[in-house]
Amino acid sequence: MSHHRVAVIPGDGIGVEVIAEGIKVLRGLEQTAPNLTFEFTDFPWGCGYYLQHGEMMPPDALEILAQFGSIYLGGVGWPEKVPEEVAVRGVVLAIRFGFDQYANVRPVKPLQGAPFPLAGKDPSQIDFVVVREGTEGLYVGQGGRYARQQAGFEQWASLRPAFLQSDELAVQIGLYSEHGCRRVMQYSFELARRRAGKRLVTSCTKVNALNYGMKLWSDVFEEVAEEYPDIDHEWMHADALAMRFVTSPEHFDVVVAPNLFGDLITDLSATLLGGLGMAAGGNIHPGGIGMFEPPHGTAPDIAGRGIANPVAALLTAGMMLDELGEAQAAHLLNDAVADVVREGAVRTPDIGGASTTQEVGDAVANCILASRPQTSDFRPET
Ligand code: NAD
Repeated sequence: MSHHRVAVIPGDGIGVEVIAEGIKVLRGLEQTAPNLTFEFTDFPWGCGYYLQHGEMMPPDALEILAQFGSIYLGGVGWPEKVPEEVAVRGVVLAIRFGFDQYANVRPVKPLQGAPFPLAGKDPSQIDFVVVREGTEGLYVGQGGRYARQQAGFEQWASLRPAFLQSDELAVQIGLYSEHGCRRVMQYSFELARRRAGKRLVTSCTKVNALNYGMKLWSDVFEEVAEEYPDIDHEWMHADALAMRFVTSPEHFDVVVAPNLFGDLITDLSATLLGGLGMAAGGNIHPGGIGMFEPPHGTAPDIAGRGIANPVAALLTAGMMLDELGEAQAAHLLNDAVADVVREGAVRTPDIGGASTTQEVGDAVANCILASRPQTSDFRPET
């Protein structure tokens, strides 16, 4: 019997809607695999919580989460009500940093039948994973704002004539550690070995312009590559790599990227999957507690309308199962999603359909239940 305790943070906007479908489908799996059980505990943290309590999560949130095997998160952010610089830092980044989830893993393998934006390319040839460093770089939250009269202003202002003409300067520090670069790169080479595909790791860098941080990143990459003589390696500047994601996405196997570049290129790579509603993501510290969240945000433009695509959240649940050692259940879930997308009868508007979020969740849950010896329609709990 495998029993998994999962902390669930639906969050805001469509986060709440897509996570409900994720739980529905995981419950469906429970009915299909007799030895698999879940205990889900919901936490109402996010922007609604902030408006009531003045903070995105309670001060002991990390201690509470540490009691679970995994975290399943929808997304946070409500730009109309809560400052953008507060919301994601207060939950997503706090958890990533708190549990040192340094490998932010985002697979890119288009599903058959999903919209594909590139003319003249064969989506079945595309199968790569972006591993984004999740704890360092420009996301460390260090720096400051300096008004003209403030101590520190002069030091920065002397760098450029335009700075001297400014009333205020802002400094955002990108901090990269040798250990932090090394471990995420080792993770990426190990992943390339496990995948046994093209056996290629591509480093996303920008050493031609970012002469300290990206120089350390690139130097460590060459050192780590030497530990894996059976895996090919190469580097590309982030801008060129973004172009190659469009012109030759079939080239890639594992791409390892610093935090900000990884953030940008994975929204781009999501378009190869049919959009943000189709892309899965997990924040992993090997051997530690992972947080699994679809890479999309809270989509305020469609929140509350019941049309958010839950596929990203469902595939993200599949990644969580894999990380929990439930490979068979993960397969079942991924296959059910793939079947529903391929058949095409039930799909949300972002990928050309007219179905609701719930209808897609029901279709996937039913597909899972249909794989049982005795099938019955899935009835959502009321
Ligand atoms: P977003 O990902 O929420 O939306 C971008 C576009 O993609 C929108 O047009 C949206 O409708 C569409 N989209 C996204 N997910 C979709 C889905 N599942 N189905 C159908 N369409 C989908 O990005 P944004 O608009 O830049 O951000 C909105 C809020 O989310 C902001 O507050 C932002 O800070 C936050 N955010 C949170 C996270 C997180 O919690 N991990 C990640 C990204 C953005």
